[in-house]
Amino acid sequence: MAIERVIDTNLHEEDPEEEAVEFSLRPTTFDEYIGQTRLKTNLKLAIEAAKKRGDVLDHILLYGPPGLGKTTMAGVIAHEMNANLRVTSGPSIEKAGDLASILTNLADGDVLFIDEIHRLRRAVEEILYSAMEDYKLDIVIGKGPAARSVRLDLPHFTIIGATTRTGALAAPLRDRFGHQFRLEYYGDEDIQKIIERSARLLESKIEPEAAQLLATRSRLTPRIANRLLKRVRDYADVNGDGIIDTVTAKAALTMLEVDDLGLDPADRNMLTLMIENYGDRPVGLTTIAALTGDEPSTIEDFYEPYLMQLGMIERTPRGRLVTLKAKKHLGKVRES
Ligand code: ADP
Repeated sequence: MAIERVIDTNLHEEDPEEEAVEFSLRPTTFDEYIGQTRLKTNLKLAIEAAKKRGDVLDHILLYGPPGLGKTTMAGVIAHEMNANLRVTSGPSIEKAGDLASILTNLADGDVLFIDEIHRLRRAVEEILYSAMEDYKLDIVIGKGPAARSVRLDLPHFTIIGATTRTGALAAPLRDRFGHQFRLEYYGDEDIQKIIERSARLLESKIEPEAAQLLATRSRLTPRIANRLLKRVRDYADVNGDGIIDTVTAKAALTMLEVDDLGLDPADRNMLTLMIENYGDRPVGLTTIAALTGDEPSTIEDFYEPYLMQLGMIERTPRGRLVTLKAKKHLGKVRES
């Protein structure tokens, strides 16, 4: 069984409290949305141009690792366009009819956010093509020889698709997005600002040095930064006077077993298993998944991106390779 992780980038939607806190911390305007300067500059321009033309915004694909702010940005875009935001996700649309009903219920100018768009079923995806291209819905009425196809007009809407991997998206779907943006990992300074902003919203006191320390452990990812902040705040409330300083932050991080690079026991366990079982040989994704007891997609979406960003894992045509840097970090080689 996979280990429960504090640095988990998944939003635990089944936990209403966590969902409510996450919702309350979400920026709603470009000014509140920290970092991602290139993305914001491009989007502001596109929004201004669409507004000037009195037109809807072209469809937008946002891609990048989980927790970097794709859903949040969809909300910001809808807000800046004065548009209604509808939210759905690839796996939750089961049949072509489900999508047809979502689309026919949209109004002109609405923004439809489809999270995990790479997980749309084939039959559902095909409905999207003409809907995105010329706001038409092709549906088949009846069965067998009596079946006929009808074409319905749809309102003019904007689809914002989010995916962790563009490679997993079929080319015809990808091509229908006029704008495609990659969200980058955040710098420590931006993460620190996000932590300080969240602490203000949660009415909790954090010293700048402590926010800086937490930032370096947050895997360059806002969702993890907020999650660590909440755990450290709990620790400060129980073991101190509620003020988060470096001493309480360090003690809480030690308790959570998050190390100075932001790795948690699950990361270290995976790297250790790879080193101990395969040494310097590359390891296939499914083998890694079998070693840790996770799904291959969990390894690919949650563990790997940050470990690759840190230079701890390399992707080779024959599999994943643990680097010297990772071995040094885990004390598996002597420093020379
Ligand atoms: P994704 O959709 O990419 O998985 P989310 O948009 O759900 O990520 O972001 C996760 C959390 O991180 C949000 O609740 C929000 O509070 C915070 N967050 C993300 N990006 C930013 C940002 N640029 N500035 C401030 N907070 C952010």
